[in-house]
Amino acid sequence: MRKRVFSGARPTGRQHIGNYIGAIQNYVKLQDDYDCIYCIVDLHALTTLESTSELQQNIFEMTLDWLAAGIDPKRSIVFVQSHVPEVTELFTLLGMLTPLGWLLRVPTFKEKARMQPQNVNYGLVGYPVLMAADIMLYKSDAVPVGEDQLPHLEMTREIVRRFNYIFGDTFPEPQARLTNYPMVRGLDGGQKMGKSYNNHIELAATPEETLERVKTAVTDPARQRRNDPGHPEVCNVFSLQKFFNESRVQEIESQCRVAGIGCVDCKKLLAAGINSSLKDFRERRAKLEKDPDHIYQILADGARRAQDIAGQTIGEVKLKMGLSRHD
Ligand code: SF4
Repeated sequence: MRKRVFSGARPTGRQHIGNYIGAIQNYVKLQDDYDCIYCIVDLHALTTLESTSELQQNIFEMTLDWLAAGIDPKRSIVFVQSHVPEVTELFTLLGMLTPLGWLLRVPTFKEKARMQPQNVNYGLVGYPVLMAADIMLYKSDAVPVGEDQLPHLEMTREIVRRFNYIFGDTFPEPQARLTNYPMVRGLDGGQKMGKSYNNHIELAATPEETLERVKTAVTDPARQRRNDPGHPEVCNVFSLQKFFNESRVQEIESQCRVAGIGCVDCKKLLAAGINSSLKDFRERRAKLEKDPDHIYQILADGARRAQDIAGQTIGEVKLKMGLSRHD
């Protein structure tokens, strides 16, 4: 039997090239070796959202990007978290055996509480328990995570161990499947690429929009004039070239160092590389976008398949916790 992988992502709408390099490409590859469950975690999103008016559209756009990138709904289960309400039931039950002290110590809780002091809600404190419920509901064997997310997964593993210790062996301890993809920096060159920083390039952007976005990218600050030699190692355009113009990286690097290529042309080259790498993706996406019913059918089918597993887990958990009787 193949092992089961679970991964959840918040519905952030149209995905950007940072999401693609950092997560989506990996999701696609994992399908070859695992039974994959990919979940759009809309309940998690509610812990920080100020408005939910764009939530449905964001779910739709994100699903389009996932499917167009190669997540195959025949091989993998793709669904929306709240469409399988068993997760909230397991969340409640796990909440009864998770010490509050564990949750209050989580660094991301402290950080979020600092960022939104006007809205330190109960869901924010319980975030890791909901995440554990997601992973455990499907008895997941592995979770793809970056190094920075390891502490979150460790919390799930603690909850699994506690449950198994008190109520008997029920859940596998999910293993981290480390994805060591480099962080993709935003067009501003400083922080991680992200929509909230407006330093991103959407996968679904048109070639023209892509070029316009790339034109705004910060380059080597020491290269003031066209004839100044450049330092590609400090230039984020260059780091993106590595992903989208792999075969020309050495040439770009050496040309930059002797001012053989200007930043304007280098950016045009990058935009062309992004556009040609994403050409097929964009065509598939445009086709999928024309048939929203098909997208919603995929999500409904995913929820049904997820619910088959979830129902069995909840039945077993309730029995073990004394909430139902053996017949
Ligand atoms: Fe960066 Fe390219 Fe300009 Fe060199 S030529 S500084 S790699 S944008």
